[in-house]
Amino acid sequence: MKIICIGRNYIEHTKELGNPIPKEPLFFLKPETALQPKGHPFFIPDFSNDIHYETEIVIKISKLGKHIEEKFAHKYYSQIGLGIDFTARDIQELCKKKGLPWEKSKGFDGSAQISTIFIDKSVLDLKNISFRLEKNDEIVQNGNSKNMIFHFDKIISYVSQFYTLRIGDLIYTGTPAGVGKVTAGDILIGYIEEKEMFKVIVK
Ligand code: ZN
Repeated sequence: MKIICIGRNYIEHTKELGNPIPKEPLFFLKPETALQPKGHPFFIPDFSNDIHYETEIVIKISKLGKHIEEKFAHKYYSQIGLGIDFTARDIQELCKKKGLPWEKSKGFDGSAQISTIFIDKSVLDLKNISFRLEKNDEIVQNGNSKNMIFHFDKIISYVSQFYTLRIGDLIYTGTPAGVGKVTAGDILIGYIEEKEMFKVIVK
């Protein structure tokens, strides 16, 4: 399976990092080894002093497809989860400055946190999914799918022009504003609506 991540998909977050608003979806991959085993703590890697959380709605691909038309994209996923795209912001900034690929700031082991549960999309209003991240009982990110620049179907259609989508592939759909640093001892809890989706201890 592969993990596809959309960048700069919320205007407020794009501005907080000083990036331009994209005209088409921007995406990158994480390797399968980035996936955090469910329930495991997140270990801050030695190579970074600035690991950020990015809380994101995740769609799970349920049907093989390529060159998927936007109007048919809804047939290619049935479940919605929540994840964290952990990012070594210091390394990412360094790579961006040098014009180098920033894979290693995004794809390291454990960088793809995924919820223990997925929600059937039929019980959600896909254009109005609220989600949030609490760090040590304080709300640090508060997002809603209605504020996405590119919505699920557009993302699937766009990405599938380049990459065949397979059953089980995960698409992280971008983070809202409020990203920030994690430190050892933090407890991160993610919610979709009022449902607890994951709890991560940072070590
Ligand atoms: Zn992200």
